[in-house]
Amino acid sequence: MKETLLKAGTVIIGDGNLIENASILIQNGIISRIEEKIPTGLETEVLDFSDCVVMPGMIDPHVHVCFDGSPNMAETRLFSDELLAIRGGKLLEILLQQGVTTVGDAAGRGNVPFAVKEAIDRGFVNGPRFLPCGRMITISGGRDPLAGANEADGVDGIRRAVREEIARGAYYIKLATTGAMTSEHTESMSVQFNQDELQTAADETRKVGKMSHAHAYGDEGIKNTILAGVDVLVHGHPLSKENIELMKKHKTMYMPTIVTYYESQLHHDDGELPEYMIRKEKEIFPLIEEGVRNAVKAGIEMVVGTDSGMPYTFFGKSTPEEMELLVRLGGTSEMQAIVAGTRNAAKSMSIESKVGTIKLGKSADMLILAQGKNPLDNISILQDKESIKRVILNGRTVVER
Ligand SMILES: [Zn+2]
Repeated sequence: MKETLLKAGTVIIGDGNLIENASILIQNGIISRIEEKIPTGLETEVLDFSDCVVMPGMIDPHVHVCFDGSPNMAETRLFSDELLAIRGGKLLEILLQQGVTTVGDAAGRGNVPFAVKEAIDRGFVNGPRFLPCGRMITISGGRDPLAGANEADGVDGIRRAVREEIARGAYYIKLATTGAMTSEHTESMSVQFNQDELQTAADETRKVGKMSHAHAYGDEGIKNTILAGVDVLVHGHPLSKENIELMKKHKTMYMPTIVTYYESQLHHDDGELPEYMIRKEKEIFPLIEEGVRNAVKAGIEMVVGTDSGMPYTFFGKSTPEEMELLVRLGGTSEMQAIVAGTRNAAKSMSIESKVGTIKLGKSADMLILAQGKNPLDNISILQDKESIKRVILNGRTVVER
C-alpha cells in the first residue's frame, strides 16, 4: 500500500475550522488519519511541511472549457470539436497549476467536455478532476447554441432534456432560466423557462442524486428559480432582499460569479467586445455588490464559480480572484471565501462526501503553501502560483515548484 505522511503547521480544513501542528496520513490517495503525531513505517514517504499552511485543493464548478477568455467567442464557430478539446485540455492544465483540483464544466459544445474529461482520466492531460454538466438546457431559441444548448419546451420536454444530459454523463444539470449577456437576440433579464418547467427539471435531477444549477438574471427569473427548488442560483443579479428571504427558506446556494463581470468591465473601452454585451453588463455591474453583500449577511451558502472562458475571464487566476472578490466586494471573511471555494463548491456538485475538506475518508486533494503564505491573512496570495509549493491530487503530487 502506498502511504504518505504529511506534517503540516496549520491545516485549513475547508469547513470553517483549522488545526495546528497536525500529521495527515494518506493511504492509497485517501486521508486515513489526522493526528498530532503519527508513527511512520519504513515504507512511509514523509513530507515535512511543519512550518507551512495546508488547505484543500480549490474547486471551481463553473468554467467553460470550450472558450479561452477571448472577447471574440464567435471565433469558436470555426473550430472543430477536436481542436476545441485539445485546447480545453491545455486550459485545464492551467487550472491545476493554480491549485484548482476539481472543476465543473457549466455547458459545452457537443461531446467536447466529455472528451477532455476522458483525456484527463487516461493521463493524456495533467488536469484536475473534471465534471462536465453536458449542455445547458434552454428554451427553443433561448440562446446562441455556440456554448452548447439542449433546447426543450414544456414540462415533458424539459424532463426529457434532463434525462438526456444525465444519460450522456452529466455530473450536474445546468438550466437557463433567463436570457444571457452573450446572446445577441435575448435580454439578460427576459424570463424564459416558467416555474413549472424549472420545478420538473429540479425534481428530475434530484431523483438521480445530482444538483441543479440555474443561470438567472432579474427579479422574476430569479424568483422562479428559487421557488422551483433549483439547488444553486448562478449569477442571480440583481439579487433583491425579497429573493434572499426566499433563498433562505428554500436553502438555495448562491454562485454570483463576480469575477467574470469584474474582469470584463475593465475592458469595456478596448473595442473588442460586442456592443450588446457591454450594454447588458453595464446594466448589471453596479447592482452586483449590494445583492452579494446582502446574501452573505443573510447567511446564504456562497459558492465560488468563475465562468472562466467567458470574455476576459481567464483560466487560472480567476478562481482565487473570485475568493478575493467575495471578501472585498461581498464582505465575507477569508475563511468563508475558502469554504465557498472548497466544501460549498463540492456540495454544489454533490461530491462533498469525497472532496472539498481535509477530513478522514476524503480524497487527499491538498495544497501546500510556501513558507509565510497564509490565505487567512491575505486571500490574494492564492492568485500567485509561486505561493503554492505543491498541488496534491488523489494523494499524488501533480505540481511541485
Ligand atoms: Zn457560465
